[in-house]
Amino acid sequence: MSDRTFLCNCQKCGAEFEFTGTYEKFNEFMESKSFNCPGGHNENSRPRFFLKVTKMSEPKPTVEWKPAEGRIYVNVLDYQNARIRGMQLDHLGSGLYIGRRTRKKYDYEEDAKGIRHYFEVTTQSRRD
Ligand SMILES: [Zn+2]
Repeated sequence: MSDRTFLCNCQKCGAEFEFTGTYEKFNEFMESKSFNCPGGHNENSRPRFFLKVTKMSEPKPTVEWKPAEGRIYVNVLDYQNARIRGMQLDHLGSGLYIGRRTRKKYDYEEDAKGIRHYFEVTTQSRRD
């Protein structure tokens, strides 16, 4: 899996901590209903309200990469392909892209040869 390391800083107490996981997992965490800060306070709001991401690493390469089931792979780095699909992409940093029109995000898995396989980030929209 395309695990990244996210360095977070709590805006309330200043605690710093690391989250390791995929970009999707990190977003899930940021949208959780409550937040138990390593700095010692518990909140009934989403971590997103308290945390600032100060650093995000690039995903670690996968030794034996193969396409994951249910994942939509899109070659966003192929400009011709992107143009045919009418995609306009902005770079979010650390290899993440976002579609200007669709707001879809694209993350990647890197294989042992250093080839990046981009896929659509699935977002669970939790509106509560
Ligand atoms: Zn805190």
